[in-house]
Amino acid sequence: MLDAYLKNGELFLKEIGVTEITPEAISGAYLKPINEMTNGYVYVESDTEAIAILRRFGFELSGKTKDILSGLTKGKKGTCSICGKKTEVVPNRAFIFPFERKIDSIVDESNRLSLCSEHAFKLYSAMAYLYTVPTGAGMLKFFFDAPERDLKAFKRTFKDDFWRRKFKVEKHEKNGKQQYSIKLSLALSRYHPNEAFFAVLHEFVKFLKDVDELEETIEAGRTVRTYLIYGSGQFYREHVIEGTTLEKLIGFLDKIQEAGKEMSWGTRHLDIWDSAVVTFYESLEIPRGKDRSKNYLEREEFVRKLLEGRFDFVLLNTIFMERLKRKLALPPYYYTWAHSYLEVFGGGVVDVKTFEQVNGLGYSLGMKMRGTNLERYQWELFRARGFEEFLNKLVELQAKLEESLDLRPVYENQGEWKVVKAVLLNGMLNALHGQGKKDNSDRNNPKEGSE
Ligand SMILES: [Zn+2]
Repeated sequence: MLDAYLKNGELFLKEIGVTEITPEAISGAYLKPINEMTNGYVYVESDTEAIAILRRFGFELSGKTKDILSGLTKGKKGTCSICGKKTEVVPNRAFIFPFERKIDSIVDESNRLSLCSEHAFKLYSAMAYLYTVPTGAGMLKFFFDAPERDLKAFKRTFKDDFWRRKFKVEKHEKNGKQQYSIKLSLALSRYHPNEAFFAVLHEFVKFLKDVDELEETIEAGRTVRTYLIYGSGQFYREHVIEGTTLEKLIGFLDKIQEAGKEMSWGTRHLDIWDSAVVTFYESLEIPRGKDRSKNYLEREEFVRKLLEGRFDFVLLNTIFMERLKRKLALPPYYYTWAHSYLEVFGGGVVDVKTFEQVNGLGYSLGMKMRGTNLERYQWELFRARGFEEFLNKLVELQAKLEESLDLRPVYENQGEWKVVKAVLLNGMLNALHGQGKKDNSDRNNPKEGSE
């Protein structure tokens, strides 16, 4: 991660024309990365201002931090952790490389990063291309890494075109003190870090389509890795999304965006590209109480897996059942989400064909159960604790319905019976509780989805 981060600093310094890192260059340019991090919305003029902004962006500066420049320049003899030169080095600070895990160094103080002025300044400058998204609990930070040419091209699209429009910082005075607030409007709510990245990505894909740059960005994005970092203090968590996955995620979002249509949803008006994404996503809530972030723990987990290239039918089934218990509508566009994901990512545990078969089977059963006293079988199947029990219940249900549907897809995937069960139940639930259209995607009563 250190090297990837460093590359961003090098790119920024090139972009602003700093080619040689001298004490003069540092003192002339050290406020610029902070400026850039605010997208130029704040013209940073002093260290006090700079420190306040850094804190607002979640940099964990010590209470003693009063100036930045001396932290970059006033060193003592040592060895640079990056280039290995024996020279004057400064200890790492939160504003230089913010993701050093202090816990790693408890063992040995000499493991702490120390940096020559060139590397300290390059790492420090990387904040120019570090992206911050405030969430309900904490903050998500992310940045990109790629071979220089691709990084530069991707940065131009993501940062200069998209982020600059979306991400704003406002400065206001309160009791004689400068305060800063971050403004970022996204169509999707976010309480957790993976949700936050997904919300940004949805916005980014819409933007790319708007300016007709989707195809070329996907091309350029293939080599771009994304580093997501969240948590705080001693415990940063890090998650890397490979370029090939990013490419597919963009393709997936494009597909579901295209499946939507303009609609009103509760009190919201949703545009075409928002509706299929927003209504499903926002309906993954399981209401629990006052602390809303707890309502979205399952959604965060579901999205985390999406970002890793996995579509978790079992987790989704749990969410559906929990919502049923609470008499809440099922998330609309389920079929669209699942089908699009499998199409783009290919099969994981189930492939597109198995999904269609098993979902169809569940749906047909559900349609026949509607309004009969056999609806309770949704719970009996849900509670089945083993392939045998699941299969027996299924056969029993068929007999009672006097139906004989083709159960081969269930037999054939015995090894993954839990996933098969979830897919089947999700199809069944949509027939029973959806609005009765085949894929239950775009015909749900929109009002039903909101609480
Ligand atoms: Zn060095």
